[in-house]
Amino acid sequence: MRGTTRILDIVRGVLALDARSIGARARRRVMGRASLSRCDATCCKGGVALSVAERDAILRQRGAVAEAMEASPRPGVPRRAGEWFSRRTRRDPDFLEGRSLDTRVVEGACVFLRADGLCAVHVASENVTKHPYALKPAYCILFRLCVEKGKLDVCRGSYTRKPDCCSPVRSGTRTPLALFAPVEARLMSTPARPQGARERFR
Ligand code: SF4
Repeated sequence: MRGTTRILDIVRGVLALDARSIGARARRRVMGRASLSRCDATCCKGGVALSVAERDAILRQRGAVAEAMEASPRPGVPRRAGEWFSRRTRRDPDFLEGRSLDTRVVEGACVFLRADGLCAVHVASENVTKHPYALKPAYCILFRLCVEKGKLDVCRGSYTRKPDCCSPVRSGTRTPLALFAPVEARLMSTPARPQGARERFR
Protein backbone atom coordinates (compact mmCIF):
# COMPACT_ATOMS: atom_id res chain seq x y z
CA MET A 1 0.00 0.00 0.00
CA ARG A 2 2.88 2.32 0.83
CA GLY A 3 4.32 1.76 -2.69
CA THR A 4 0.96 2.62 -4.22
CA THR A 5 0.75 5.86 -2.27
CA ARG A 6 4.31 6.74 -3.24
CA ILE A 7 3.85 6.32 -6.98
CA LEU A 8 0.63 8.35 -6.93
CA ASP A 9 2.40 11.07 -4.93
CA ILE A 10 5.20 11.16 -7.50
CA VAL A 11 2.86 11.28 -10.49
CA ARG A 12 0.87 14.10 -8.89
CA GLY A 13 3.70 15.93 -7.16
CA VAL A 14 6.37 15.77 -9.88
CA LEU A 15 4.46 15.22 -13.12
CA ALA A 16 1.37 17.27 -12.21
CA LEU A 17 -1.08 14.64 -13.45
CA ASP A 18 -4.23 14.00 -11.45
CA ALA A 19 -3.63 10.34 -10.54
CA ARG A 20 -5.74 9.34 -7.55
CA SER A 21 -5.87 5.55 -7.89
CA ILE A 22 -4.17 2.72 -9.78
CA GLY A 23 -6.09 0.80 -12.45
CA ALA A 24 -6.32 -2.98 -12.76
CA ARG A 25 -4.40 -3.21 -16.05
CA ALA A 26 -1.30 -1.67 -14.43
CA ARG A 27 -1.16 -4.57 -11.92
CA ARG A 28 -1.45 -7.46 -14.37
CA ARG A 29 1.58 -9.59 -15.13
CA VAL A 30 1.68 -8.91 -18.86
CA MET A 31 5.29 -7.81 -19.32
CA GLY A 32 7.83 -10.33 -20.64
CA ARG A 33 11.23 -9.29 -21.96
CA ALA A 34 10.09 -5.68 -22.13
CA SER A 35 12.74 -3.11 -21.30
CA LEU A 36 12.82 0.66 -21.57
CA SER A 37 16.44 0.32 -22.71
CA ARG A 38 15.16 -1.42 -25.88
CA CYS A 39 12.59 1.30 -26.62
CA ASP A 40 12.66 2.04 -30.36
CA ALA A 41 10.44 5.13 -30.23
CA THR A 42 7.52 3.49 -32.04
CA CYS A 43 5.24 5.17 -29.49
CA CYS A 44 6.46 8.60 -30.64
CA LYS A 45 4.65 8.24 -33.95
CA GLY A 46 1.47 9.87 -32.69
CA GLY A 47 3.06 12.80 -30.81
CA VAL A 48 1.93 13.46 -27.26
CA ALA A 49 -0.46 15.55 -25.18
CA LEU A 50 1.18 17.96 -22.73
CA SER A 51 0.16 20.77 -20.42
CA VAL A 52 0.57 24.46 -21.24
CA ALA A 53 3.23 24.67 -18.50
CA GLU A 54 5.17 21.81 -20.09
CA ARG A 55 4.98 23.51 -23.50
CA ASP A 56 6.18 26.80 -22.00
CA ALA A 57 9.09 25.08 -20.25
CA ILE A 58 10.20 23.61 -23.60
CA LEU A 59 9.80 26.99 -25.32
CA ARG A 60 11.94 28.70 -22.66
CA GLN A 61 14.74 26.35 -23.76
CA ARG A 62 13.94 26.59 -27.49
CA GLY A 63 17.57 27.24 -28.41
CA ALA A 64 18.81 24.07 -26.71
CA VAL A 65 15.89 22.05 -28.11
CA ALA A 66 16.50 23.33 -31.67
CA GLU A 67 20.19 22.50 -31.28
CA ALA A 68 19.32 18.97 -30.18
CA MET A 69 16.94 18.61 -33.15
CA GLU A 70 19.61 19.79 -35.57
CA ALA A 71 22.17 17.33 -34.20
CA SER A 72 20.24 14.52 -35.95
CA PRO A 73 17.60 16.16 -38.13
CA ARG A 74 14.61 14.43 -39.68
CA PRO A 75 13.64 15.73 -43.11
CA GLY A 76 10.67 18.11 -43.08
CA VAL A 77 10.83 18.93 -39.37
CA PRO A 78 10.43 22.69 -38.78
CA ARG A 79 13.19 24.57 -36.98
CA ARG A 80 10.82 27.32 -35.84
CA ALA A 81 9.51 26.81 -32.31
CA GLY A 82 6.17 28.33 -33.36
CA GLU A 83 5.49 25.19 -35.40
CA TRP A 84 6.24 22.61 -32.73
CA PHE A 85 2.83 22.52 -31.00
CA SER A 86 -0.87 22.59 -31.85
CA ARG A 87 -2.25 26.09 -31.40
CA ARG A 88 -5.45 25.27 -29.53
CA THR A 89 -5.64 24.03 -25.98
CA ARG A 90 -8.50 21.89 -24.66
CA ARG A 91 -10.00 21.17 -21.27
CA ASP A 92 -8.21 18.13 -19.82
CA PRO A 93 -8.89 17.26 -16.17
CA ASP A 94 -6.16 14.60 -16.07
CA PHE A 95 -3.60 17.42 -15.94
CA LEU A 96 -3.66 19.31 -12.62
CA GLU A 97 -3.44 22.44 -14.73
CA GLY A 98 -6.74 21.46 -16.36
CA ARG A 99 -5.72 22.06 -19.99
CA SER A 100 -3.60 20.33 -22.62
CA LEU A 101 -2.44 20.56 -26.24
CA ASP A 102 -0.35 18.33 -28.54
CA THR A 103 3.10 18.17 -30.05
CA ARG A 104 2.89 18.36 -33.85
CA VAL A 105 3.22 15.20 -35.92
CA VAL A 106 5.53 15.75 -38.89
CA GLU A 107 6.43 13.13 -41.51
CA GLY A 108 4.83 10.37 -39.44
CA ALA A 109 6.25 11.13 -36.00
CA CYS A 110 6.39 13.66 -33.18
CA VAL A 111 8.22 16.81 -34.26
CA PHE A 112 10.83 16.17 -31.54
CA LEU A 113 11.78 12.66 -32.68
CA ARG A 114 15.26 12.75 -34.23
CA ALA A 115 16.58 10.68 -37.13
CA ASP A 116 18.69 8.66 -34.68
CA GLY A 117 15.56 7.68 -32.69
CA LEU A 118 16.33 9.92 -29.71
CA CYS A 119 13.96 12.56 -28.34
CA ALA A 120 15.32 16.10 -28.83
CA VAL A 121 13.51 17.32 -25.69
CA HIS A 122 15.11 14.57 -23.61
CA VAL A 123 18.57 15.38 -25.02
CA ALA A 124 18.12 19.14 -24.48
CA SER A 125 16.80 18.57 -20.96
CA GLU A 126 19.87 16.55 -20.06
CA ASN A 127 22.18 19.16 -21.60
CA VAL A 128 20.57 22.19 -19.99
CA THR A 129 19.17 21.01 -16.66
CA LYS A 130 21.15 17.76 -16.06
CA HIS A 131 17.75 16.09 -15.53
CA PRO A 132 16.59 14.13 -18.62
CA TYR A 133 12.97 14.35 -17.47
CA ALA A 134 12.82 18.01 -16.41
CA LEU A 135 11.56 19.21 -19.81
CA LYS A 136 10.11 15.96 -21.12
CA PRO A 137 6.30 15.72 -21.34
CA ALA A 138 4.85 13.69 -18.45
CA TYR A 139 3.12 11.19 -20.71
CA CYS A 140 6.38 10.40 -22.51
CA ILE A 141 7.99 9.61 -19.14
CA LEU A 142 5.06 7.46 -18.04
CA PHE A 143 4.47 5.42 -21.23
CA ARG A 144 3.11 2.64 -21.19
CA LEU A 145 1.31 4.04 -18.20
CA CYS A 146 -0.98 7.04 -18.49
CA VAL A 147 -3.58 8.85 -16.40
CA GLU A 148 -7.16 8.55 -17.52
CA LYS A 149 -10.10 9.85 -15.49
CA GLY A 150 -7.99 9.97 -12.32
CA LYS A 151 -6.54 6.45 -12.73
CA LEU A 152 -2.91 5.57 -13.35
CA ASP A 153 -3.21 2.66 -15.75
CA VAL A 154 -1.89 1.11 -18.96
CA CYS A 155 -2.61 3.32 -21.97
CA ARG A 156 -5.39 1.98 -24.15
CA GLY A 157 -3.84 3.18 -27.40
CA SER A 158 -0.85 0.97 -28.20
CA TYR A 159 1.60 1.88 -30.94
CA THR A 160 3.92 -1.08 -30.52
CA ARG A 161 3.52 -4.82 -30.92
CA LYS A 162 7.09 -5.55 -29.92
CA PRO A 163 7.53 -7.65 -26.76
CA ASP A 164 11.19 -6.54 -26.43
CA CYS A 165 9.98 -2.97 -26.23
CA CYS A 166 6.79 -2.74 -24.18
CA SER A 167 3.87 -4.63 -25.73
CA PRO A 168 1.96 -7.04 -23.45
CA VAL A 169 2.56 -10.81 -23.72
CA ARG A 170 0.37 -13.79 -22.82
CA SER A 171 2.50 -15.23 -19.99
CA GLY A 172 4.24 -12.23 -18.51
CA THR A 173 6.25 -12.18 -15.30
CA ARG A 174 6.15 -8.49 -14.38
CA THR A 175 3.50 -5.81 -14.14
CA PRO A 176 3.64 -2.47 -16.01
CA LEU A 177 4.03 -0.83 -12.59
CA ALA A 178 7.15 -2.92 -11.91
CA LEU A 179 8.55 -1.95 -15.31
CA PHE A 180 8.13 1.69 -14.29
CA ALA A 181 10.14 1.34 -11.05
CA PRO A 182 13.54 2.57 -12.41
CA VAL A 183 11.85 5.65 -13.88
CA GLU A 184 10.05 6.27 -10.59
CA ALA A 185 13.41 6.32 -8.80
CA ARG A 186 14.82 8.91 -11.23
CA LEU A 187 11.72 11.07 -10.86
CA MET A 188 12.43 11.47 -7.16
CA SER A 189 15.29 13.83 -8.07
CA THR A 190 13.53 15.57 -10.98
CA PRO A 191 12.27 19.14 -10.45
CA ALA A 192 8.47 19.25 -10.09
CA ARG A 193 6.29 20.88 -12.72
CA PRO A 194 4.67 24.07 -11.37
CA GLN A 195 1.23 22.59 -10.73
CA GLY A 196 2.70 19.48 -9.17
CA ALA A 197 4.75 21.53 -6.74
CA ARG A 198 1.52 22.70 -5.14
CA GLU A 199 0.77 19.11 -4.17
CA ARG A 200 2.38 17.89 -0.98
CA PHE A 201 4.07 14.53 -0.68
CA ARG A 202 2.38 12.49 2.01
S1 SF4 B 1 8.35 14.54 -26.90
FE1 SF4 B 1 10.00 13.06 -27.30
S2 SF4 B 1 9.42 11.16 -26.21
FE2 SF4 B 1 7.60 12.46 -26.39
S3 SF4 B 1 6.50 11.75 -28.23
FE3 SF4 B 1 7.85 13.46 -28.83
S4 SF4 B 1 9.80 12.49 -29.47
FE4 SF4 B 1 8.62 10.96 -28.32
